[in-house]
Amino acid sequence: MQATTQLIHSIPVDPLTGAISVPIYQTSTFVQEAPGVNKGYDYARSGNPTRATLEDIIAQLENGSVGLAFSSGLAAIDAVIKLLQSGDEIIAVDDIYGGAFRLFEQVYKKFGVRVTYVDATDPSTIFNAITNKTKLIWIETPTNPTLKISDIEAIAKIAKARRCLLCVDNTFASPALQKPISLGADIVVHSATKYLGGHSDLIAGLVITADKELGEKIKFFQNATGAILSPFDSWLLIRGIETLPLRIKQHCASALEIAIFLEQHPLVENVFYPGLKSHPNHTIAKKQAKGFGGVVSFTLKNDTEEAAIEFATSTTLFKLAESLGGIKSLLSHPATMTHKSIPAQKRKEAGVSDSLLRLSVGLEDVEDLLQDLEQALAKLSVNSHEKAEVVFN
Ligand SMILES: *Cc1c(COP(=O)(O)O)cnc(C)c1O
Repeated sequence: MQATTQLIHSIPVDPLTGAISVPIYQTSTFVQEAPGVNKGYDYARSGNPTRATLEDIIAQLENGSVGLAFSSGLAAIDAVIKLLQSGDEIIAVDDIYGGAFRLFEQVYKKFGVRVTYVDATDPSTIFNAITNKTKLIWIETPTNPTLKISDIEAIAKIAKARRCLLCVDNTFASPALQKPISLGADIVVHSATKYLGGHSDLIAGLVITADKELGEKIKFFQNATGAILSPFDSWLLIRGIETLPLRIKQHCASALEIAIFLEQHPLVENVFYPGLKSHPNHTIAKKQAKGFGGVVSFTLKNDTEEAAIEFATSTTLFKLAESLGGIKSLLSHPATMTHKSIPAQKRKEAGVSDSLLRLSVGLEDVEDLLQDLEQALAKLSVNSHEKAEVVFN
């Protein structure tokens, strides 16, 4: 059976009623016949049938054995970090998602968990950074927002040899393009808020583990600390996942066209998109993923915050907003938005320059999206020309 058919039919028909849509069990508790005698559920923080269905679907989709649904991507990340103890170390990718950086530095640091940030595009930098305290390697690929790619299979081999766990934040690729567990990762996390949900209508996080026992440990934290996904949001996420392969196909096709357009534009300096032959990690991207995703980042020749903000407020279809992965195209300015909590120097070292703009290419007709970018760039060109005249006068 092909992947999309398999996905659609991994969503079960309700055995009780035949309902073709997964029922929403909007309940806090479950009546027991006698103490401890129940139908598999006792209290809805510990388990809810709607959430359990979602968790089964995502475990299958990521080729893992346990799936767990959380109230946000960060809650999912948090549950994984709880595997560690004071004194343990993490090696993380240097242009890590800003919220994960904040969690590591402002929450877990004070509990004695240390993080070393490295350029994960070269697996040997990870190998060299490992100490006998390293317990976890944390990568994102593609990264946010510079879309660097690291070789999951090579890093998984290093992790295995040094007895560390490898966790991959698979938010940007989604399981429609990339399955880290099949490449050797131990844990996958998602901000399901993005492509898996796909409609910009919910906040959700997922953890998937390759190993059942490891999954049970994280499931313990899910129940013990309680950041579960609600039954309604679980249902909404299932509904999003049903169309994931179809949506991703279009996101990828439009993003590639836009990346090519930007690369040829005279006001654009650099374009970051793993599908471009000019991308330094294009070969690995092609090897480990079925496509290159829907996010395109670029910098302007005029590498200033002012120019970037002018562009970001000139588009009409691309809406200025944090987040990505939805039907509607979005655009963000990481330096002043998602990456504001990362110190300026560290931010620039990781390639997030002042004019860097990130596009989340949506499902509108690509001709319209190209036209929108074209007119916003044209405005920029006119304004910089006017400013130049003022200087000359
Ligand atoms: C958005 C995002 C997160 C955080 O997810 P929330 O659902 O916003 O909590 C984590 N990792 C990546 C790569 C993200 O883009």
